[in-house]
Amino acid sequence: MYDRVIANGLVVTGDGVVAADLAIHGEQIAAIGQDLNGETVVDASGCYVIPGGVDPHVHLQMPLAGRVSTDTFRTGTVAAACGGTTAIVDFVEPAPEEPMMEAFRARRAEADGQVAVDYGLHMTIPTWHATHDTGLYQVPEAVAAGCATFKCYQAYPQLALDDVALYRAMLAVADAGGLVVLHSETGPLLEALRVEALAAGHVEPIWHERTRPARLEGTAVHRAIEIAHEAECPLHIFHVGCVDSIAEIVAGRNRGVDVTGETCPQYLVLTEEALAREDGHLFVCAPPLRSPEDRQATWEALAAGDLDFVSTDHCPWTRAEKEQPDFTQIPGGLPSIEARLSLIHHFGVNEGRFDVTHWVKVCCTRPAQRVGLARKGALLPGYDADVVIFDPQRSKTLSTETLHEAADWTPYEGITVQGWPRAVYLRGQAIVQDEEYVGTPGDGRFVPRHFT
Ligand code: MN
Repeated sequence: MYDRVIANGLVVTGDGVVAADLAIHGEQIAAIGQDLNGETVVDASGCYVIPGGVDPHVHLQMPLAGRVSTDTFRTGTVAAACGGTTAIVDFVEPAPEEPMMEAFRARRAEADGQVAVDYGLHMTIPTWHATHDTGLYQVPEAVAAGCATFKCYQAYPQLALDDVALYRAMLAVADAGGLVVLHSETGPLLEALRVEALAAGHVEPIWHERTRPARLEGTAVHRAIEIAHEAECPLHIFHVGCVDSIAEIVAGRNRGVDVTGETCPQYLVLTEEALAREDGHLFVCAPPLRSPEDRQATWEALAAGDLDFVSTDHCPWTRAEKEQPDFTQIPGGLPSIEARLSLIHHFGVNEGRFDVTHWVKVCCTRPAQRVGLARKGALLPGYDADVVIFDPQRSKTLSTETLHEAADWTPYEGITVQGWPRAVYLRGQAIVQDEEYVGTPGDGRFVPRHFT
C-alpha cells in the first residue's frame, strides 16, 4: 500500500507515454504500473502525468542598479509552482572582493523559508574574482557547498570577462569538477555601438536589438567554445535565440566539445517586432528578441536537439521601472516563470513541432541532468516525487489576472494556451490543487548539486 497513487493518467517517461498508475511513497516515486493501491488515490483520467518542470535560469529578487527584480523568492516560486515548475536554479552574485561563501550564505538566507519549490544556486564569477587568484581559489569551496555551476559573462561592464579571464575561470571550474553557464555576447563592442547610437539620437527600444547584432552574439559563442575546448571545461550557453549562436553550438559539439545550449519562451513566442510596438520598452532583454527567421530556426533547433532545453531567464520589472528616457537605461529582462511549461506544450506539441515525450525532455529531464539536479526531471523509482497532473484540454488566457507573477504586465498578454497543470506535487506533497496554490512557502529546499 503506497501513500498516494495517481491513477489512470498518461504517464510520460523517457521512453514514451504509457497509460498507468504512478505510486508515491514518502517523498519519492515508488512505482509505475497497473492497479497500484494507495492510501490516497487521485484520478488523472484524460491528463498527462509528468515530472515537475525544471527551470535552471531565473532571477528572483535580483538587485540591479538600485532596483530589485519584481518577484521575490516567495511570489516567484508560487508562480512557478502554479505553472507546474517544481525546481529552479537562481544565482549568487558576489560583490567585488566579497568571498563567494559569504554571498552564498546571504542568498540562502533570502530564499530559505520563502521558497515554494526546491531550488539551487549558480555561483557567479564576477570580473574581480576571475582576475584574482584569491577569487578563483574559492571555486572548490563553492562546489563543496553544492554550487557546481558557475555563471560567467562576456557582456556588461561590471561583470564581463575578457578571453583570458574566461579561460582562467574555466580552468578553475574544470579543475573543481564544475560546469560554466555563460551569458555570451561581445560586450565591449556592444557598449561602443550603444554609445554611438545614443550620440546619433537613437533612443527607441528597437535600437536595443540593432546595437546587439546576432553576429556579435555568434562570435562570442564561438570564442567561448574555443576557450572551453582549451580549458577542457564543460560549457552551457544561456538564452540562445538566433541562427548565429545555434550554428556555433552545433559546430562545437561536432568537434567534440562538451557544449549545450538553452532557449527561453520569449525567443520562441516573440520577435523583435515587439520592440517596435508603442510599449516596446517592456520587451527589452539581453540577448534581444530576434527576427521571425531566428525564431523559426530556434524552434527547429529545439526539436532537433541542437538546443538542449528551455529555461525562462525570468527577470521581471514593473511597467514604471521599464519606462525610461532611452533604451540603454531600461532594466533588461522579462517575466516567464509561470507559463513556460504550457507555452512550450501549446506552441510545441499542439502545433505539431514535437511530441509530448520531447516536451518533457526539454522542460524537465534535460535541464535537470545538465545542471546536476540528480533526482529530478524524470518519473523514475527513487526520484523525488515532483509530479504534475497536466490537463491538455484545460485552456487559459494569459494575463496579469490569471497569472501569479508579481509584475504588472506579461509579455504573453491575451495569448490563450490549451493545456495547463491541474495539480502539482513537490516531493509527494500537494502544493497546487485545481490551479490554487495550497502549499506553504518554505516547503522548498536548497538542493546541493555536484557532478562527481
Ligand atoms: Mn539571466
